[in-house]
Amino acid sequence: METFEKVVAAERPAHIRELPIVTGHLALDFANTVDDPDGPNRYDHIGSYAGLLHWAVRVDILPTARAQDLYETGPPSLRAAHALRHVLTETFGGIAAGQPQADEHWAGLRPFVTDSYRHADLVAQKNNYVMTWPDDRPDAVLWPVARAAADLLTAPVLGRLKRCAGCPWVFLDRSRNGSRRWCSMEDCGTHAKIQRYVTKRKANRPR
Ligand SMILES: [Zn+2]
Repeated sequence: METFEKVVAAERPAHIRELPIVTGHLALDFANTVDDPDGPNRYDHIGSYAGLLHWAVRVDILPTARAQDLYETGPPSLRAAHALRHVLTETFGGIAAGQPQADEHWAGLRPFVTDSYRHADLVAQKNNYVMTWPDDRPDAVLWPVARAAADLLTAPVLGRLKRCAGCPWVFLDRSRNGSRRWCSMEDCGTHAKIQRYVTKRKANRPR
């Protein structure tokens, strides 16, 4: 049987890595789904519906079995997913760059957020409720992402939003002294360190 996981593996070229998921925030991780955006290994990991479902399973907003059901009933258009990602990239990228444009950002995001709340259910937990969405609809992936984006925009932690010093990805700097500069230390951080080392060695080389 053709599974979406097999399709994802088959369509990704051998030199393209699995997408690193680095921020731990649903809305920002969704914004960061084009790997190496300005580099030679640029790859859109939600460029296909199978890819979108694979991402949703990895960030825990869909169980694999439900994702497979959606895959079999698809494929719907990816236009909404890409439009939402564009809005998130503009919104959070703009805020991180010190250009908050609340009206403009909200105009783009509002339709996704209202759609998200329209489809939401509340399920009782021990001390509160948790928002859930039906998982048998093509937009099931987008609703929790849109809700997470609205929450982040109104959360004090938004002040810790940054753009990586090595790539266009955005992240929340949760370090105690607010000193994080890279989307991931293993990736852009290490790359920057190697660059500094090479430059230094070149400078120190006797002529
Ligand atoms: Zn980076």
